Amino acid sequence: MIVVHTFADARRAARGSVGLVPTMGFFHEGHLSLMERARDEHDTVTVSLFVNPLQFNEASDLEAYPRNPDRDAALAEAAGVDVLFAPPVSEMYPVEPLTRVVVTGVTARMEGSSRPGHFEGVATVVAKLFAGLGPDAAYFGRKDAQQLAVVRRLVADLSFPLRVVGCPIVRERDGLALSSRNVLLGAADRERALGLSRGLAAAVALVESGARDGTVLEQAVGRASPDVSFEYVELVAADTADRLERLDRNSFLAVAARVGPVRLIDNVAFEPGEGGVVVVEPGRRLDGPSLLYGGL
Ligand code: AMP
Repeated sequence: MIVVHTFADARRAARGSVGLVPTMGFFHEGHLSLMERARDEHDTVTVSLFVNPLQFNEASDLEAYPRNPDRDAALAEAAGVDVLFAPPVSEMYPVEPLTRVVVTGVTARMEGSSRPGHFEGVATVVAKLFAGLGPDAAYFGRKDAQQLAVVRRLVADLSFPLRVVGCPIVRERDGLALSSRNVLLGAADRERALGLSRGLAAAVALVESGARDGTVLEQAVGRASPDVSFEYVELVAADTADRLERLDRNSFLAVAARVGPVRLIDNVAFEPGEGGVVVVEPGRRLDGPSLLYGGL
C-alpha cells in the first residue's frame, strides 16, 4: 500500500479498475467491510481519508472528530488497500470553493434539515473525489442511508461514469451501529445509545407481524426507547427520502438522537417482496468487541 497526499499521485498509483472508498478515517469494521467489498471487485482499491470541514455544521464536532492516521494506515494495509489518499485541506480546497454541489429533494428532511449545509459539503467533496480520482465504482455504507441516496442522485444527475455500491450496516455485538464517534461515549451514554437500535428492532418486530403504517412504525421506536430523545424518526423511500405513509416500497426507517456529547444516527432498510412479505436488511453483528476499542 502506498500513502499519497495529492490527486495526481493517487491517479498515478492506480492500475486497472479502481474501487474507491471515501472515508473520514478512524477506521472500524464498517469501513473495513467497504474496503473488503472493493478488494473483491477491483484491481486497485483506493481509500480516501479526509475529515471534510465543509460537511461539519458545528465547529465543536469537527474539532472533536476522532483521528489516528497511523492506525488507519495499518488497518487499511491489512485490509488489502492499494492506495491511501490522505490529502491535506490545501490539496482538497486550495482556495475556498465557489462551486458547490447542491442536491435538492433527497436532502429536504432528516439529516438535511437537522444539519444545514451538511449535504452540500458531502456532495461537493464526493464530486471532487469522483472527478479527481476517476473511480469505476464507489462504496458507501447504508449506515448513512440518506447520504447514499444523495450520492446516487448526484451520480445520476451529473453523469459521473461510475457505479455506486451500498453496503450493509455493521453493528457491535449488542446492536449499536459502528461509528467513529462511538469512542466519544462514556459508559452511561454508551448504554443509552443502545436505545437507537432497540427502537428500530421494535419497529422491525411490528413489520414482521404485518404492520405497514408509517406512523405506527415510527411511534414504536419512541415507545421502545423512552429514555432517548429522538431528533427524528422517519419512514422514507430509499431513493427519494420522501416520507412514506405506508411501507409499500424500498424504504428505510431512520433515527437520529443526541446521546451525551455525540449525535448518533441509525436505520433499518426494508424491501417489499412477493406476497406482501417485507425483507429486512439484516446487516452484520460483530461477535467480539470492535477494534474501535483498543484493537490495534
Ligand atoms: P465516515 O468515515 O463516517 O464518513 O464513513 C465512511 C463510510 O463508511 C461511509 O460510506 C459510511 O456510510 C460507512 N460506514 C460508517 N459506519 C458504518 C457501519 N457501521 N456499517 C457500514 N458502513 C459504515
